[in-house]
Amino acid sequence: MKRALRVDWPACHARGVCHELLPEVVDLDEWGYPIVGGEVTPELLGLAREAVRMCPRLALRIVET
Ligand code: SF4
Repeated sequence: MKRALRVDWPACHARGVCHELLPEVVDLDEWGYPIVGGEVTPELLGLAREAVRMCPRLALRIVET
């Protein structure tokens, strides 16, 4: 089982907190919107959960793929 981050695009307001917490997985485009790329490995799961908690728009979630 693999995990990844998903963004609720209508809710996301490009604040970039997710990128600050998890640059290994989240890049930002030129407007500051997240580009979610890599897998959330077990080592990154704690930070990914923090990013979900800290997102000011509650626009992030972790999904199993
Ligand atoms: S922290 Fe939330 S609102 Fe900010 S860019 Fe990431 S997903 Fe969007």
